[in-house]
Amino acid sequence: MITLKEALTKSKEELKELKIEMEKRAKESGLNAYIDFSSSGDGVPILIKDNIQVKDWAVTSGSEILQGYVAPYNATVIENLKSKGFSAFGRANMDEFAMGSTTETSFYGVTKNPYDKTRVSGGSSGGSASAVAGGIAIASLGSDTGGSIRQPASYCGCVGMKPTYGRVSRFGLASYASSLDQIGPLTQNVEDSAILYDAITSFDPKDSTSSNLELISIYQNLNPNRKLTIAVVDNYIAEASKDIQKAYASTVEALKDAGHTIIHKNMANTKYDIATYYIVATAEATTNLARYDGIRYGNRQKGSNLAQTYTNTRDLFGDEVKRRILLGNFVLSSGYYDAYYLKAQKVRHLIRDEFNKIFEEADLILSPVAPSVAPKIGSFHDPLEMYKSDMFTIAINLAGLPAISLPVAKSSEGMPIGLQLIGKVFNEQAVFDGALSLERAINYKK
Ligand code: GLN
Repeated sequence: MITLKEALTKSKEELKELKIEMEKRAKESGLNAYIDFSSSGDGVPILIKDNIQVKDWAVTSGSEILQGYVAPYNATVIENLKSKGFSAFGRANMDEFAMGSTTETSFYGVTKNPYDKTRVSGGSSGGSASAVAGGIAIASLGSDTGGSIRQPASYCGCVGMKPTYGRVSRFGLASYASSLDQIGPLTQNVEDSAILYDAITSFDPKDSTSSNLELISIYQNLNPNRKLTIAVVDNYIAEASKDIQKAYASTVEALKDAGHTIIHKNMANTKYDIATYYIVATAEATTNLARYDGIRYGNRQKGSNLAQTYTNTRDLFGDEVKRRILLGNFVLSSGYYDAYYLKAQKVRHLIRDEFNKIFEEADLILSPVAPSVAPKIGSFHDPLEMYKSDMFTIAINLAGLPAISLPVAKSSEGMPIGLQLIGKVFNEQAVFDGALSLERAINYKK
């Protein structure tokens, strides 16, 4: 597949032919990465996750409950894409309401990993990652609440970037956990990631958490020769598989050889990351998902009275979504609010403070993205096992930081391994500069 940078030089006619070819290849691929081939506009085609509104397209968040729902307006990121020569093409599969780490909770069935179709693509932006890595999309948009861009990028061997909270408008993104959600790019390489990042970022008065900090083109200022101080969090690495530890060690060497300074740190609160995230995220999800009552949106299941209509409609949610609604209601209920929700908010501050402390000395932090390579389809039997696989990504959302996942090695089974570079809030330039330097040093594609 041509890169995004190359696609920007193509004529409208060439792009039109490319879309026909992409649809054909996607159908033949057997990856189940696309759930639809809608097209809007004649710009460079960007695949869009099924939770981002594109006017007049179905948008279902991978759920049965939103079957039949058509978006009445464009998300701000779609307007931004349009104004910069891009256009929305195709719907990417995802975990239902972005809840999951494997894209197995989708109403449309699992998206497969292009490196091994018996393995998952990761989640929740599994379709976005599998399509880019599998050569059937030029680039795509995903959303990342606790790792959903970076982790599938790592499992599939492409580049996934989560911007600083507030940098990309959430207007038109179906909310999962509003204080954590960010839209971001999945691409074939770091340069393309910077191009797409520049295209979607803006200040948006329609999103009250959107930042009005000045925007400078990251792509035009990319500098892979900049020397950075990169922190290695030693207690992170012990939790990762042998293959990932090996990849991590060789990446540290490559960064040193490229002239960066490595410093060693430890973080004391990482053991609370998963509990804190799953309290905050489910509490917010419970509130956000209350709107799907069969009255205002989508797929109404009639009952003999109003309460029965609610119940019948909400029974369309899948098991994982129901589990989170129950958990979210529990942690918010009187009697448990202080013990769980309030405590989690306090711990969230401690987690952020710990990152900030490291950032007093470092420009970036290098971390694994996931504790293993992409697991086999159907291998998580206990939801807690799946939650644990988020251990390296969720703290970054709790702290609102920018981070990029890029492929650095392959495991002994030939599966891609991604690592992430985490940056200070609103210092995306350092994140991209470091990532480009690392991409060149590693030369993964060769
Ligand atoms: N796996 C995490 C969850 O299920 C993260 C998902 C996401 O980032 N959307 O909550």
